[in-house]
Amino acid sequence: MDYKASEQIQDLQYFGEFGGVNPSISDSSTYTFLSAKTMFDTFEGNTEGCYLYSRHSSPSNLYLGEAMAQLEGTEAANVYASGMGAISAVIFQLCNSNEHIVSSRTIYGGTYALFKNFLKKFDINTSFVNITDLEVVEQSITSKTKMIYCEAVSNPLLEVADIPALSKLAKKHGIPLVVDNTFSPLSINAAKLGADIVVHSLTKFINGSSDCVAGAVCASSDFCLSLKDVNNGAGMLLGSTLDSLRAASILKNMRTLHIRIKKHSENAQFLAHQFEKDGLKVVYPGLESHSGHHTMKSQMNPEYGFGGLLTLDVGSLDKANALMELMQKEKLGYLAVSLGFYKTLFSAPGTSTSSEIPLEEQKALGLSQGLIRFSIGLDNNIQQTYDAMKSCMKRLGVLESSLTLA
Ligand SMILES: *Cc1c(COP(=O)(O)O)cnc(C)c1O
Repeated sequence: MDYKASEQIQDLQYFGEFGGVNPSISDSSTYTFLSAKTMFDTFEGNTEGCYLYSRHSSPSNLYLGEAMAQLEGTEAANVYASGMGAISAVIFQLCNSNEHIVSSRTIYGGTYALFKNFLKKFDINTSFVNITDLEVVEQSITSKTKMIYCEAVSNPLLEVADIPALSKLAKKHGIPLVVDNTFSPLSINAAKLGADIVVHSLTKFINGSSDCVAGAVCASSDFCLSLKDVNNGAGMLLGSTLDSLRAASILKNMRTLHIRIKKHSENAQFLAHQFEKDGLKVVYPGLESHSGHHTMKSQMNPEYGFGGLLTLDVGSLDKANALMELMQKEKLGYLAVSLGFYKTLFSAPGTSTSSEIPLEEQKALGLSQGLIRFSIGLDNNIQQTYDAMKSCMKRLGVLESSLTLA
């Protein structure tokens, strides 16, 4: 990968109106026009640099959009009020009723519920497939299929999608490949690898401070403009607009993304390696034992590592709950959903973030009830964290029982 996303982001300069080192925040919902003709043209989408109404666009949202476009190396990007706001805008822009989506079966629970339940209202059907089985992916494409959808590194099972291969398949069938890159910003440049549209939840690593929800769509200028169209744009008409004040704060946090991702990855790689040596059932794309290790290696930017997420299967939900409560008590992290925070966050996805997926399907996917998803934090002394985590596991008998399981 020769695309230097972080340098591109660092080089983006916006000055405030008094020469401030950060851009001024656009504190207005509406904008004045000197001429009525310009207002009309702006409605028609013809006037560059003119703002109309902040649901359509605002300077602060455009700055953050430009940084997101640099991150993925796409022509443009739009920002939204949440990751789901971004994802749903893409789906409704591309799919009409009676059409079809081929999606990975291991995706974020909210996206799964949108596809499986909510889209039924519009007779939009989804085939959920094993995204690493390209033959099955291709066999599932019909004349009604409007996109292949997957996550670069999936939530919560950390399956790695072969983006170049999926892109080739999508092109062959004349449909776009839509990739959710929330788990692997900077590590994987999904668009450079062939994704046509990249979606992000900015709520996670990109913002990194767990103080807001936001999302983005990175794609061609044409597609981003179509989402904003006043007559037909899903972004404009469904209204999941990000607030300008928040866009400004996310842009400031993005300035340190490269440092944070490196540290998240370094810490997660260390813990995963240690846990594996201890005989625990750990899943991390940076381990040789991970089924997607080589795929990830071939498409990642090695500077940023394999990401901050790992999972640990401790055998049962009771054990998982006891361990998470103890680790929280020992200040090793928080029992909380979400990811990308400075502090380690852990949750049992089967009963939380993936509870939208019915139990039998969870089983079929390999999502067991004893699975804990860790978003590893920015701990300065990860050896100390590891020692403390191990001591928690010993106290609960997790280590011994996993040893016999492994
Ligand atoms: C959290 C998440 C989303 C949804 O994002 P929100 O900002 O919570 O709406 C989508 N995809 C993935 C992979 C996520 O982790």
